[in-house]
Amino acid sequence: MHEYPITEQIIKIAEKHCTEAGAKRVRKIKLVIGDYSGYVGDSVRMYFDLIGEGTLCEGADVEITHVKPKLKCTGCGRLFERELMSFACPVCGADGEPTDIGKEFYLESIEVE
Ligand SMILES: [Zn+2]
Repeated sequence: MHEYPITEQIIKIAEKHCTEAGAKRVRKIKLVIGDYSGYVGDSVRMYFDLIGEGTLCEGADVEITHVKPKLKCTGCGRLFERELMSFACPVCGADGEPTDIGKEFYLESIEVE
């Protein structure tokens, strides 16, 4: 549900960009969403279609890049994706600690036409 306000923001930013570029409409936006960001891509897409109706964003494609969370090994420093039920580094077996990778949420690009 909390995707609603953030999607409104995205649309505002895209419309502003579109107007400033002198374009007629937004063709595509690209988002980067980490699996641990707390935002659900499908919900953003749904709200985008809903809120975007009647705006410069109407009919625009929403492309989402999902980022899997990674842990950083406390032994060898390697970044790795967590296996289910385990925090162990696949290389040396030491425990990994959480990083910010996977918590991303940002607008990567806006294409207008
Ligand atoms: Zn390691």
